[in-house]
Amino acid sequence: MHAPVMIDGSQGEGGGQILRSSLALSLVTGRPFVIDNIRAGRGKPGLMRQHLTAVLAAAEVGAAELEGAAIGSRRLSFTPTTIRSGSYRFGVGTAGSTTLVLQTLLPALVLADGPSEIVLEGGTHNTWAPPFHFLERAYLPLLNRMGPQVSVRLERYGFYPVGGGRLSVQIQPAKSLMGFHLVNRGETKAKSVCALVANLPAAIGEREVKEVLRRMSWPSDVGCVLDVGASGPGNVVFIEIESAHVTEVFTGFGRLGTKSEHVAGEAWREARTYLASDAVVGPYLSDQLLPLLGVSAWRGDSSANVGGRFRTGPLTRHSTTQIETIQAFLGVQIVASTVDNHGRMVDVDVRPG
Ligand code: AMP
Repeated sequence: MHAPVMIDGSQGEGGGQILRSSLALSLVTGRPFVIDNIRAGRGKPGLMRQHLTAVLAAAEVGAAELEGAAIGSRRLSFTPTTIRSGSYRFGVGTAGSTTLVLQTLLPALVLADGPSEIVLEGGTHNTWAPPFHFLERAYLPLLNRMGPQVSVRLERYGFYPVGGGRLSVQIQPAKSLMGFHLVNRGETKAKSVCALVANLPAAIGEREVKEVLRRMSWPSDVGCVLDVGASGPGNVVFIEIESAHVTEVFTGFGRLGTKSEHVAGEAWREARTYLASDAVVGPYLSDQLLPLLGVSAWRGDSSANVGGRFRTGPLTRHSTTQIETIQAFLGVQIVASTVDNHGRMVDVDVRPG
């Protein structure tokens, strides 16, 4: 029996990610963990509905013993016994993010003995979480490059606060995760901007797209507005930059009382920063790729194509916290070196010796 990994949930970024990454890495390694001070850095600390769903989902996949799995709990003990592939259905209840729950389970299920399918219900385009289009276009193609084959279908949109969205996910696992190197973007293949509008005037999306096209000086044929069905109102605008080696997606989330041009400006600012730099991986993708590369290096030996490197901008607190959590579970080597004022090269390797 392993001694539990002790995690301080208040360290670094101090949010839900420390918990979710601990669950993911505990499942992959079979190492139990105890986390204290859960989400101590947030206004409403402790487990909220979305985090509890991630805990219960991980416990089901890992046939885990749990202590402290309740709304508001600030301490959790998680002891997995296995990884079970299969058919799962998880409801995040309110508009909690389905994609964050999925990312908790993926590292284990892509290395499981058999295929899985998961249906997740809740929010599909939430602020402070990867929106579906980011998951589909930016994150999953890189995970699939590592060996497994994961496909997602958006069956229903779910926006805050009503939710009611649904994703279905098919997972074909691999024996191990191959590494990758993302040191340059390669040639730009396509740039586009698309606004989604649900139960709101189309003019909201039209203004957002127009604003991004104007600020980018892009022609109007790379813009689109889609009127989508959902249980409640919702609006996002996303800018997609497809390069030879990577696709990045930057999202603005429409919200009551915020002008369309402002929402568009938020997405534009992120995309502009990315395009003006030599970063291959943007700030969100960076923290989300780290556990995948960490697991790749942890499972492999130094002679194989495992771990890897990517070029990004200054590390966010989510990324630095992610590195600490990964090192607590996996003991792999992660080094971020400064390339220039704004650039960092992140290397994830098997620990030498
Ligand atoms: P936490 O704040 O700890 O719950 O973690 C939020 C997670 O959502 C991190 O992995 C972020 O990279 C990710 N995230 C937040 N906003 C976006 C966005 N606009 N696009 C993609 N991922 C995002």
